[in-house]
Amino acid sequence: MTLSPAIRLWLSERFGPAARFGEPLARHTSLGVGGPAEAWVAVPDEAGLSELVGRAAHGAAILRVLGRGTNLLAPDEELSGIAATLGKGFTAIGVEREEGGRILVRAGAGASLTALCRFAAAQGIAGMNFAVGIPGSVGGAVWGNAGTHAGCVADRLESLTLLRPDEAARVIRREELSFGYRSLARDPALFGAPGSPAVITSALFALFRGRRDEIEAEAREMLARRKATQPQGVKSAGCFFRNPPGQSAGALIDRAGLKNFRIGGALVSPVHANFLVNAGNAAAGDFLRLMEHVKTTVADKFGVILTPEVTILVR
Ligand SMILES: Cc1cc2nc3c(=O)[nH]c(=O)nc-3n(C[C@H](O)[C@H](O)[C@H](O)COP(=O)(O)OP(=O)(O)OC[C@H]3O[C@@H](n4cnc5c(N)ncnc54)[C@H](O)[C@@H]3O)c2cc1C
Repeated sequence: MTLSPAIRLWLSERFGPAARFGEPLARHTSLGVGGPAEAWVAVPDEAGLSELVGRAAHGAAILRVLGRGTNLLAPDEELSGIAATLGKGFTAIGVEREEGGRILVRAGAGASLTALCRFAAAQGIAGMNFAVGIPGSVGGAVWGNAGTHAGCVADRLESLTLLRPDEAARVIRREELSFGYRSLARDPALFGAPGSPAVITSALFALFRGRRDEIEAEAREMLARRKATQPQGVKSAGCFFRNPPGQSAGALIDRAGLKNFRIGGALVSPVHANFLVNAGNAAAGDFLRLMEHVKTTVADKFGVILTPEVTILVR
């Protein structure tokens, strides 16, 4: 336990039932694993977030921002501090303006990426289809530069809005940001010192006019491709490892003979070897052990060191 009685009281009074103590993180992660969070808050709006971030920065608690938990491995043990997710006040999606053939669409960081793709398609706005089928929030997608073979967030982002302690939300333009493969560099000049809270509250995407029927047909193709190549109806975090430069992590794991390899309830998917799935009652520890086994086996066989794409939360 790291939270003082004073901060616990403040969380309860400020956020009411949206603040919970000992909330199981397994409920909030797509892998379906994770022990209790010391405190978990669904922050309703920017005023609440600003206060929370300020208190955390001034020593009241460690603050971790969660999106929709689709790229997270939470520990079995209690996660210290406050785990915060963005609630209803961060889910708006709308056209902000049109200029020079571009349509600028703003999405709250708590909105689902799927909702953004559907909004764009329904309005005949093209450019978001690269993200069709990627679960999770807009904030998580920007933070991890989510993408597919068809493109990534960095290709379409115009700016993001960031909330840091003791300042008004600031807009950071795409040119100021340094994106890599499934990553966004945490430049301290923009995001603050490591460990200091920095929360994306919304993102502006530069899209363009298209035909609704064509956009929807392309989206269906993207989903069909996903259905044909990825495990369906199982708990996973998507691809567990990053692809090493010029190689496919899934192909390496497959060639290492690890499809169907299982530790406890964690299994290397027989459908796609880079998906580590919860085959029932897995613990986070099972995934950590399976991850290490896969890494060691692939390193021994091919001399390639795999690194996780999934964010591993540590107590
Ligand atoms: C079935 C399946 C398929 C997938 N396919 C793909 C795919 O094709 N391509 C792909 O890129 N990913 C894929 N993923 C992984 C995952 O969906 C993406 O990484 C997604 O963008 C994560 O979003 P999230 O909201 O769930 O973030 P979370 O998993 O909750 O968090 C991920 C990271 O983002 C940070 N974060 C989240 N929100 C914010 C915020 N508002 N401000 C600051 N930091 C924040 C968190 O602190 C954490 O470090 C897949 C996952 C699953 C389960």
